[in-house]
Amino acid sequence: MGKVAAGLVVFRRVAEKIEYLLLQTSYGIHHWTPPKGHVDPGESDIETAYRETVEEAGLQESDLKVFEDTKTTLNYEVKGKPKIVHYWLAELINPSAQVKLSHEHQDLRWLGLKEACELAGYADMQQVLVNYDNYLKKNN
Ligand code: AMP
Repeated sequence: MGKVAAGLVVFRRVAEKIEYLLLQTSYGIHHWTPPKGHVDPGESDIETAYRETVEEAGLQESDLKVFEDTKTTLNYEVKGKPKIVHYWLAELINPSAQVKLSHEHQDLRWLGLKEACELAGYADMQQVLVNYDNYLKKNN
């Protein structure tokens, strides 16, 4: 099996509008991604997702509400090796929490669905965002 990673697709509500958090990598082609990272030995996927969101965005578990039934998995290849990434949808419920980037990212944006899809670029990540947006329309 290839590398396994996990992360959170974080959103916030601003005046009834939903905005998704994307971070721009300071490595590679400077693509935009939700906070995520490799699962460490002995760690569960959701533990990794929380830890990486703390490390990469400075958002704590207590700042967030994870929607437990939204686990979704991407599969892609990095330098010819398979990579698996598990995501959950998570709402930023602490309005005063500030995003703090690590050295791994150089910029951040809160974006509506259309803009988030444009910046996310990869078709599978765009589909995750569309699915989560539909989920929120149905459930909240
Ligand atoms: P990441 O998994 O975001 O750390 O990125 C590792 C490499 O995979 C980078 O070269 C990215 O451009 C690329 N990458 C990131 N997300 C995807 C995706 N959904 N599909 C294909 N390649 C991706």
